[in-house]
Amino acid sequence: MNTDLRTVDLPNGKRVPVLGQGTWHMGEVEKRRGAEIEALRLGIDLGMTLIDTAEMYADGGAEKVVGEAISGCRSDVYLVSKVYPHNASRKGAVAACERSLRRLKTDYLDLYLLHWRGAIPLEETLSAFGDLQRTGKIRDFGVSNFEESDMEQILEEPGGERTATNQVLYNLQRRGIEWDLLPWCRQRRIPVMAYSPIEQGRLLASLRPFSERRGLLPAQVALAWVLCQEGVIAIPKASNIQHVSENRAAVDIVLSAEDLAELDDLYPRPTRKTPLEML
Ligand code: NAP
Repeated sequence: MNTDLRTVDLPNGKRVPVLGQGTWHMGEVEKRRGAEIEALRLGIDLGMTLIDTAEMYADGGAEKVVGEAISGCRSDVYLVSKVYPHNASRKGAVAACERSLRRLKTDYLDLYLLHWRGAIPLEETLSAFGDLQRTGKIRDFGVSNFEESDMEQILEEPGGERTATNQVLYNLQRRGIEWDLLPWCRQRRIPVMAYSPIEQGRLLASLRPFSERRGLLPAQVALAWVLCQEGVIAIPKASNIQHVSENRAAVDIVLSAEDLAELDDLYPRPTRKTPLEML
């Protein structure tokens, strides 16, 4: 299998694979640790080199799992982690990032995201991100769970124009961003990173009849649909190697215009503005 995945451009011209790997709920149960590391390593070997984690996941435990999975191949990986909003002050974000780096056993993150918008002014968080960039601890920064109005605000702050991505909930069942946020980001060439692209497994049953008619698996249809949206990166989480291989194969699936129309009937496009959903 060709391990060079299609890429998506960040606003600064860097390219990242269109399909990455999530890690929420990894590192929670000791006896699953080996399988999680094996799954992440297989994903890297298959080209899914973008790995998304957060200080929040398993209270740092997911970052430790990732640290072990990427040991020996750090430079092949595009590593993303996130800071809690309550840690996102000028000093707090620097300290949180340093803790993440220790757990990840690396000296830099490729991308550091504000996990969601909190009470600390964006200006302060951006100053911390600037400090972290200057000291080489992060290469790029971005946000997560930001509404269009939040995006407008951050882009007006000094340094905010360097925001590399907005990671949000997006899948066939959660299409609200198509109304406003997604076109807004596309216009500015800011990629959207789609989290929970298979709705944490809840999409599988309703997608089964459609998938079976096409000889595909439901998770692959869910991913292929996200992956055919322009300027969107998908980060499914799989701690099972069979799932990892299935997910990788979804990059090569081409959904026809008829397939897409059928999926629009099953999971309609938004017809009005709705608040951004979060998990
Ligand atoms: P998801 O990726 O939509 O679903 C994960 C679930 O689907 C797991 O139970 C996994 O099982 C299963 N699965 C994966 N591939 C499958 C396949 N081929 N067939 C059948 N089942 C499959 O949900 P998610 O973990 O919530 O989202 C993905 C990542 O996005 C997270 O891990 C996290 O990194 C990120 N995220 C970010 C935010 C945020 O606020 N920024 C919020 C939520 C998630 P196994 O593990 O058993 O393989």
